[in-house]
Amino acid sequence: MRAVVQVGYGDPAASLELQDVPTPDPGPEDVLVRVRGSTLNRKDLFALANLTGAGIRARPPLPHVNGTDAWGTVETAGSCVSGWRHGDRVVVYPGLFCGTCEFCVRGETSACRAYGVIGEQCWGSHAEFVVVPARNLEPIGEGLSPQALACAGGSWLTAWRALTTVAAIRTGETLLVVGASGGVGTAAIRIARASGCRVIAAVSSSWKAERAVAIGADAAIMAGEPLGERVMALTDGRGVDVAIDSVGGEGWRETIRALAPLGRMAICGATAGDSPSVSIREIYQSHRRILGAPLGTRAEFRTLVTLLAAGRLEPLVHATVPLDRIHDGLRMLEQREYFGKIAVSVEEA
Ligand SMILES: [Zn+2]
Repeated sequence: MRAVVQVGYGDPAASLELQDVPTPDPGPEDVLVRVRGSTLNRKDLFALANLTGAGIRARPPLPHVNGTDAWGTVETAGSCVSGWRHGDRVVVYPGLFCGTCEFCVRGETSACRAYGVIGEQCWGSHAEFVVVPARNLEPIGEGLSPQALACAGGSWLTAWRALTTVAAIRTGETLLVVGASGGVGTAAIRIARASGCRVIAAVSSSWKAERAVAIGADAAIMAGEPLGERVMALTDGRGVDVAIDSVGGEGWRETIRALAPLGRMAICGATAGDSPSVSIREIYQSHRRILGAPLGTRAEFRTLVTLLAAGRLEPLVHATVPLDRIHDGLRMLEQREYFGKIAVSVEEA
């Protein structure tokens, strides 16, 4: 099969090679999926940078194939797998989970004691085929567009869990989205609007501010503006009920300051830094809550796919790159010149 193989660290064009490699065999409880589409995520850049540190799982040895999200068709199934046939259309839940630990039994598959992610703990979907556990397959009808499928993955699932389960947004509440142009951020705008929330988007440039408003944000704040002050001005000095922050770094303190008393801050990323300085008093004296919200559960994934299929959530794809031009997409990601998901198309050779 053709696969984008990571052979080194650093620049995407030098570190990734489109190679012919042996097509993997599925294990007894696995399925071999013929990949039709995938996406790019910031974690693909972290893999190229060989990012390590607190909270980051051990990197796989090279050579390796990245790619967390996948959709396509069932090619072959392992000996213990039943219910799946060659050609069945599927989209793949990106989290790896054991199914038997105390958290999995509670349905909290993304808190699994053996939790991992496709494309990190095993070879990923930037290839013509990917092996995944059969329990990760979600059947899909003909109705789901490639755009919707590009959004039925890790970024949107993270935003979905952060807003609906963890922060539990309610109609009429005001939401601040920090990093509103990325996969999680654009998903958060769409989900919050569909839930009847008012949305303030924080972005890094004027064209992204325009795009954020065009897809449903009520107001946008640009980098360089004092976030906390601007949010207070936009909310009559009250602050927002909920913030979702996938950026982290030194902007964190401003996000906390933008929260109303009792406000909830769902956090799901630290792309700008992992160790910001914060004021503990600014948090507890205003009854503010900071809530960790990584990838959603298997059940939440099904809900997300159902809502995308029903048109209840409108997807947002910035660009689609073919497998052999993945480094172009990664460069877009690296330079932050995108708004929405970057999809990868995989054509049959
Ligand atoms: Zn488990």
